Amino acid sequence: MEQQLDEQAGALLAQRLAERGISCALNAGVERVTPQAVLLSDGREIPAARVVMATGVRPNITLAQSAGLACQRGIIVNRRLATAVPGVSAIGECCEIDGQTFGLVAPCMQQADVLAARLADNGGEDFHWQDSGTRLKVTGIDLFSAGRIQATPEDESWCSLDPVTGHYRRLLVRHGQLAGVLLFGDCASAATFTDLLHTTQPAQAGWIFDQFTTQPSAAGTQTMTKPTLALVGHGMVGHHFLEQCVSRNLHQQYQIVVFGEERYAAYDRVHLSEYFAGRSADSLSLVAGDFFAEHGIELRLSQAVTGIDIESRVIRDAEGHELHWDKLVLATGSYPFVPPIPGNDLPDCFVYRTLDDLDAIAARAKTATRGVVIGGGLLGLEAANALRQLGLSTAVVEFAPNLMAVQLDNGGAAMLREKIVELGVGVHTSKATTAITPMADGLMLNFADGSSLETDMVVFSAGIRPQDALARSAGIRLGERGGIAVDNQCRTSAADIYAIGECALWDNKIYGLVAPGYQMARVAAGVLAGEACAFTGADMSTKLKLLGVDVASFGDAQGRTAGSQSYQWIHGPEQVYKKIVVSADGKQLLGGVLVGDASDYATLLQMMLNEIALPSRPESLILPALEGSAPKALGVAALPDSAQICSCHNVSKGDICQAVSAGASSIGAIKSCTKAATGCGGCSALVKQVMEYQLAQQGVEVKKDICEHFPYSRQEIYHLVRVNRIHTFEQLIQRYGHGDGCEICKPLVGSVLASCWNEYLLKPAHLPLQDTNDRYFANIQKDGTYSIVPRMPAGEVTPDGLIAIGHIAKRYALYSKITGGQRIDLFGARLEQLPDIWRELLAAGFETGHAYGKSLRTVKSCVGSTWCRYGVQDSTGLAVTLEHRYKGLRAPHKIKMAVSGCTRECAEAQSKDVG
Ligand SMILES: Cc1cc2nc3c(=O)[nH]c(=O)nc-3n(C[C@H](O)[C@H](O)[C@H](O)COP(=O)(O)OP(=O)(O)OC[C@H]3O[C@@H](n4cnc5c(N)ncnc54)[C@H](O)[C@@H]3O)c2cc1C
Repeated sequence: MEQQLDEQAGALLAQRLAERGISCALNAGVERVTPQAVLLSDGREIPAARVVMATGVRPNITLAQSAGLACQRGIIVNRRLATAVPGVSAIGECCEIDGQTFGLVAPCMQQADVLAARLADNGGEDFHWQDSGTRLKVTGIDLFSAGRIQATPEDESWCSLDPVTGHYRRLLVRHGQLAGVLLFGDCASAATFTDLLHTTQPAQAGWIFDQFTTQPSAAGTQTMTKPTLALVGHGMVGHHFLEQCVSRNLHQQYQIVVFGEERYAAYDRVHLSEYFAGRSADSLSLVAGDFFAEHGIELRLSQAVTGIDIESRVIRDAEGHELHWDKLVLATGSYPFVPPIPGNDLPDCFVYRTLDDLDAIAARAKTATRGVVIGGGLLGLEAANALRQLGLSTAVVEFAPNLMAVQLDNGGAAMLREKIVELGVGVHTSKATTAITPMADGLMLNFADGSSLETDMVVFSAGIRPQDALARSAGIRLGERGGIAVDNQCRTSAADIYAIGECALWDNKIYGLVAPGYQMARVAAGVLAGEACAFTGADMSTKLKLLGVDVASFGDAQGRTAGSQSYQWIHGPEQVYKKIVVSADGKQLLGGVLVGDASDYATLLQMMLNEIALPSRPESLILPALEGSAPKALGVAALPDSAQICSCHNVSKGDICQAVSAGASSIGAIKSCTKAATGCGGCSALVKQVMEYQLAQQGVEVKKDICEHFPYSRQEIYHLVRVNRIHTFEQLIQRYGHGDGCEICKPLVGSVLASCWNEYLLKPAHLPLQDTNDRYFANIQKDGTYSIVPRMPAGEVTPDGLIAIGHIAKRYALYSKITGGQRIDLFGARLEQLPDIWRELLAAGFETGHAYGKSLRTVKSCVGSTWCRYGVQDSTGLAVTLEHRYKGLRAPHKIKMAVSGCTRECAEAQSKDVG
């Protein structure tokens, strides 16, 4: 930047850039660029996978030259922007005036004004550019230069350098007058100096000090004096901490620098497994829009911090770059524990924590058929589900006698095991793996009891350990079994260093859930902002769907409280297990377990958390409601205002009621003003109930709006579409809605449009509105796989057709079943298999049977007079005609038809929609 800076400012800039991890090779001519490196003329070699050329610009004069216009460096024009050829002008970066070209937007704009005035015969003035200086921000460092930069022998040079702040100021004075200004770091006086440059006032020595800044700099201006807040770890909790900082304006008080070891910015690890069900890394991202640019926060991805120097307040990254910090927050999360078993590092052994882990698992699964998960806890079962979705025959190996030993009691674990085994997942409990040995065609797991298990790949999910290596090497106090010890304010043993999330140990506890981590993030941000706040522990209740089975555990699920009593309800045929633990006096709920049906979870959890008095017969809380009895639901009315409804974002019933009183009357509005139900989403139903309760309290009629984008009910949307002849979602939202739409209104409008106009569903205008089933021509099932039903009008199928279906079912290992509508359903196809399966079905002459759509499904029939002794008419022929005529017809609901050929009614036509 020698055009703008002198030697001293240049050196300061290079130093600051080096602190930010950018090194500058000066006096370095580039000899050659290779795919791996940049070779310098002095023999140095800089390794580089990417090279960006920024070696200046040249006015674009090709056209002008070919037209014979006079050009030197630029197209030569006079001060009225006219070339020598009448009628031809030139403005902007391509033109040259008195030997000068212009590379900044301001003079080019002024040229445009001058030319426009001339062409409009408005007279106007000649172009004269008065340099008002260049103000730049180079990676967060403020620079300003105006007038002369390079001093000549006749110039005097007045300088000041503040060694503490690093601010530098140099004034060039010629014949007693200011001729050039250079400011580095603090540019608050730039405007004053620009004015002084254009006066004849004699220069004063005092100008090199800060005599112009009479006001303290306004909040929000970026100056080099801001202290640095460094955050190590950009995971879920780290990012929540940044959001909390922004909400408290801490990004304006601090220069915030974030280090993330992964190549992705923070993403939703809780919903990581959805990546296997087709969710993209982008859609899992937690970073909204231009969050970092908008708030001036610096994010350094793929940069692990490797050292903390507490004395000199510096952190060091893997490449040796250092950053000075004033406050340091560690949010390094945890890492998967891999038991020390010989063979645990074989290439076919994986862990399940990051997007990169999932990519590696998916890549290996392509050529594998068997997978084993070591660990039968919550995450192990989630990993097992993933392997199953990838098409592997899957087994879970657990050291303890029970699955999910932390959360479930014996009864709950037994029921869960039964359900999981039924899904085809092998469960091996009380198995200590002693070694993993490679074999010719896979791996062998050897167990302590002498048994063994063969597999192609292993996923370890045997628990997590706090990622505390950094803190350990810096001498920060850890717990006996690891974890960075923090107090109620999330402060570690080192001054100005905080720890939050899964790496932090509070009261000797590590919380492996996201909600407590979010609470810590709020506390740490609050403490930095000077608020009085404290982390006082968190509830570890969990509700999940594991391998399609609802499982919930809360409070003292194992009944360990002295004197506690428990009630259990087991519905064998439906495989439902429910248990509650109550206090010795039977008045308080202490905990519980729900397997197979967790619909009572929200109610029970609130009763426990708010210490609501139990009914005289507590068992009624888990027993099925008998006909005629009062509803057992607790009802939101009974909850105190302090009841925490959303634990991820710490939103209470009172907060939601307040938001409603302040005008929020839809779930969308509640979400955006309180953030409730935007974390793990487990509280969505309860949030809606509280909102509706409060609206009813205020005497407000609860709106039937379909969502926040359309202030209409479904019925009203239908009328609008029909009466106004609206044919696309775009037209509808432009005229009657707002925003971009969501997953509620899009499929709804798609269905209404299809019912009204029956246009081709996969037209580009309609495609984004359709449910996944309509897009994939298959029906998503509860385990995430799909089922496929080829159309068979009236149940007719040729032997070749049957053979083709049989081959396909065999090739893709699909479960096949005859449906009630006389067709064959093929179950268990994975998303990525669907295009191949459909290609083969189409080649065999089949088309989709719309077994998923709100459309005509099938026209069932008996064989009619063609074959049957009693048949009086050709029922099959009519059914085939009807099915072909109405297939693809869309409606608000699915339609089934049937034709019977006599009064015996073998096709059950009278119980169909049309018979
Ligand atoms: C498959 C799966 C399912 C889950 N399901 C649930 C659930 O249903 N409910 C629930 O509450 N919780 C669930 N969790 C747990 C939840 O994801 C964690 O509690 C949460 O992610 C913790 O956030 P964190 O920011 O503390 O750690 P993380 O999200 O792990 O983030 C820490 C980040 O710091 C980075 N890092 C570490 N060291 C360094 C370093 N030296 N320099 C730079 N960066 C570093 C790491 O690479 C990582 O990106 C699940 C976790 C997994 C893996």
